[in-house]
Amino acid sequence: MDLGYRDRVAVVTGGSSGIGLATAELLLAEGARVAICARGAERLEAAAVRLAAAHGADRVLARALSVLDAAAVRGLAAAVGERWGRCDLLVNNAGQGRQSTFADTADDDWRAEFELKLFSQIHPVRAFLPMLRSARGAIVAVNALLAYQPEPHMVCTSAARAAVQNLVKSLSRELAPEVRVNSVLLGLVDSGQWQRRFAAREDPAQDRDSWYAALAARKGIPLGRLGEPIEAARAIAFLGSPAASYVTGAQIDVSGGLNRHM
Ligand code: NDP
Repeated sequence: MDLGYRDRVAVVTGGSSGIGLATAELLLAEGARVAICARGAERLEAAAVRLAAAHGADRVLARALSVLDAAAVRGLAAAVGERWGRCDLLVNNAGQGRQSTFADTADDDWRAEFELKLFSQIHPVRAFLPMLRSARGAIVAVNALLAYQPEPHMVCTSAARAAVQNLVKSLSRELAPEVRVNSVLLGLVDSGQWQRRFAAREDPAQDRDSWYAALAARKGIPLGRLGEPIEAARAIAFLGSPAASYVTGAQIDVSGGLNRHM
């Protein structure tokens, strides 16, 4: 199936690692031009160099910024507009989860978590909306199954994920029919956060395969393993593409069957 990305322009926040990087790679391979951003300039630059080497420097743009900095995000939108004159897809992927129970989550942690989850959507949507409208484009929010299936050890992330899902639904109505807005709900994907947890494992002698296998078993993932970033990227690419032209306000679950809600 042709997803229809040839000559289109996509922006992937958090595109220097994991799911965002896999999404940028996939969109480039499908023919899009892609802008990525992340806070860490060095890792972003390394990702941009690799993407440019594989797909052409004229098809890749990278800016080091935090999506929580509204002015910087507007600057990225201006750079994309100047360089390519359009934006067809915004993938709001930047972020990370926070592990804490209610007992050990301070007020400032709650505030920080809600700020990250909500404004990592709000700032890019505001900045790119005029271009998305005129391109009749799409937004994909990278969200988590926690939105529907909260985990007590990730209490504030779960609540903030539910808020994002609610926002996606509102946006899908308010921005229709010009802009489609959808989300992916991730379970456990083998990218940055799990790699960091593996690096900090209790038993340093435990090898990678057995640590991941034990994690999948402990979580009861029906497909028996964590997802790969490319498996999340494929769902994002589909929802953001013209191939999904009649899909808005919807979500694709990429959790290996971990989803227990109907
Ligand atoms: P990674 O840590 O591999 O990648 C996260 C990316 O986001 C990096 O490029 C990081 O770069 C960037 N980033 C983080 N905060 C900001 C910020 N404030 N502004 C700009 N860029 C930022 O993680 P994943 O690929 O796993 O995560 C991608 C998304 O998926 C995240 O939102 C995550 O919460 C979500 N998710 C992941 C799950 C999983 O199991 N992997 C499960 C559920 C949701 P830098 O640090 O340099 O800014």
